[in-house]
Amino acid sequence: MHEAIKVLDHGYIKVIETWGSDEGIVEAARMSTGKGFLGWGPSKRCSRCGTKEKLMHDEKVSDTWCWEHYVDGTLQPRQECDFSVDVPGDEKLLRYLHENHHDTPFEMAGMIVEVQAPIIVFREWHRHRVPWSYNEASARYAPLPALDFLPTVERLMAGGGHLTKQAGAHGDVVLTEERAAWFLSNLEAWQLDGERLYQTALADGVPKELARGAMSVFRFSKMRASANLRGWCHFLTLRTAPGAQKEIRDYANAASEMLHAAFPRCMGLFDDGRKKRA
Ligand SMILES: Cc1cc2nc3c(=O)[nH]c(=O)nc-3n(C[C@H](O)[C@H](O)[C@H](O)COP(=O)(O)OP(=O)(O)OC[C@H]3O[C@@H](n4cnc5c(N)ncnc54)[C@H](O)[C@@H]3O)c2cc1C
Repeated sequence: MHEAIKVLDHGYIKVIETWGSDEGIVEAARMSTGKGFLGWGPSKRCSRCGTKEKLMHDEKVSDTWCWEHYVDGTLQPRQECDFSVDVPGDEKLLRYLHENHHDTPFEMAGMIVEVQAPIIVFREWHRHRVPWSYNEASARYAPLPALDFLPTVERLMAGGGHLTKQAGAHGDVVLTEERAAWFLSNLEAWQLDGERLYQTALADGVPKELARGAMSVFRFSKMRASANLRGWCHFLTLRTAPGAQKEIRDYANAASEMLHAAFPRCMGLFDDGRKKRA
């Protein structure tokens, strides 16, 4: 069972399932040569017979002696392997695929998550269409629990324009802590009012699909989301960037942690690429 990571005041993200592996991605990339996954390196190869030291350790080869070989028609005496030649492991191929945008092997792995997040976060998340699949609690068939996102004064004071002023305050107004606190206490009261209206409407028999109009886009909803690793990386590129809204960034950073645990080598390459672009 995977642990959920808490995000925002009432949200979380948890892994339902991951599929594939770093090794499986290499294997898929080697379909054309049929060689499969050969092992992570670096390792050593015998300068004479070519046997890989790693294979010895994996006990796939029974001794450390060179295979019999002939020179000019004469059988050479067998001798102990000389592991002096450096051989890169399959991380070299993985890096090559990643850096040269041979992206289809990265579609052979992926992750399904369950996410509880405010509707504003889902609205941004659902813009990611390829190769995403979603199922969300709609509040049409069952009421949503009374959980609304309430930011903090610090969050409001941090502003919204991480890269550009566009997402920040309207006009040239400078927010004070006092006005931020005023907004939050009124927002909370308004959310409570909305919840009262919602509950009354449900009790009066208003159809759930219309009673949900009393909720704000800060209401927490729940979804399952699935994508392959290629799609996740595209999502992380856009949604962990400083220009993304903090709330979806928090979810993207948590998802990134989960992907690093499942696909450490691929995600290491993703990090390298991001550092290079920064
Ligand atoms: C910081 C930020 C601010 C944003 N602000 C706004 C905003 O103000 N308003 C707004 O509407 N959206 C906004 N967006 C959403 C944005 O425009 C994209 O819809 C969202 O980031 C998903 O990106 P995508 O289209 O690459 O992803 P996906 O839809 O998942 O597509 C993934 C990739 O598949 C390919 N693809 C998918 N569909 C097509 C297609 N029809 N034709 C050709 N290729 C395709 C493309 O290569 C694409 O990059 C914002 C996004 C970010 C990150």
